[in-house]
Amino acid sequence: MFRHIAVCIFFILPTLGSAKLEKNVILISVDGLKRAYATDTHFMPNLTDLAKSGKGSQSASAAIPPRTIPNHTTMLNGLNPRTHGMLINDKEAANVTSNPSIFDILSSHFGESFEGAAVVAKKKLAYIVSSQGPQSAPLSIDGSFVREFIPIKRDNFVMRQIRNFTGVHPSEQTRDIALEKLADSIPNLLFIHFGNADLDGHWGVRFKATIVKSNGGWGGERQRNELRIIDRAIKAIVEQASVHDPGLEHTTFIITSDHGGHKNSHGGIENQDKSKLSIKVLEDVKQLTLDDFHPDDISIPWIIFGGESDSYRISDHIDQVDTAPTILDIFGLERPVAFEGQSAIVN
Ligand SMILES: [Zn+2]
Repeated sequence: MFRHIAVCIFFILPTLGSAKLEKNVILISVDGLKRAYATDTHFMPNLTDLAKSGKGSQSASAAIPPRTIPNHTTMLNGLNPRTHGMLINDKEAANVTSNPSIFDILSSHFGESFEGAAVVAKKKLAYIVSSQGPQSAPLSIDGSFVREFIPIKRDNFVMRQIRNFTGVHPSEQTRDIALEKLADSIPNLLFIHFGNADLDGHWGVRFKATIVKSNGGWGGERQRNELRIIDRAIKAIVEQASVHDPGLEHTTFIITSDHGGHKNSHGGIENQDKSKLSIKVLEDVKQLTLDDFHPDDISIPWIIFGGESDSYRISDHIDQVDTAPTILDIFGLERPVAFEGQSAIVN
């Protein structure tokens, strides 16, 4: 009997360390995707269908301030911006983060059986995926970093142009890199960031502070076109994952955003009494609440489908800081004590 057990352990143990985990999460963040657009068939017909097949929260809020780096850091490390301290959209500042991300936590828990990958459309995001830095093993981070804002000053106008060095549409490039990551198998955690709907929201020709001519803006023609491209890209990513995992039995998708937006921007303080506070100063940010921001900037989608999500009950309201503990929950890991959110899976 004992010899039998010993033989089993001998054969099982070595495989436990190296066999790939049979559970996957694909986290897709569509930068600047206002909640109302995510399930509007005019903007995102495929995502609307996918949302119907799965679940979502009735409401979900960005973290304060509703900006890209603060929120993506929160999404990946389970701390609010006032705790992780990443308040500004700056890659050098982002480089100082030392809090472990969910990639770090899963990688240290599961060791070599865990495979993580990220595809980010804004280079600065590569710094927050792992506290080990953008090139940390076993994580591979790629990006379509070809589209940047190039401000051109001419008289009183600042025209914002987007330059694409390769001629490939940036969101389609993000899609293609994501499909490459999914060519042979599904990484256990794949983070995909589409950046361009946000850039189209900011697009405009300005005279001083006023947009004088634009097909940009939140919900504008440029953003609507962009969201349709991203919508088709999400469908292609789901189809590619389904090639390896028919029925998505082992693969859970979470589709969300870092923030919404209104007019040509997001993340500005709307409360007159508090408008002198700086969102770059931690003590100022601590005084702000969700009510100090435009509701369209705060409102984000949070959609889950695939994996075991049919059996989940999802909480009615989700905060950005809940995304990280939810993903750890799907992998069967306890919420770390330092985390400030709760898993969105109620039971
Ligand atoms: Zn933005």
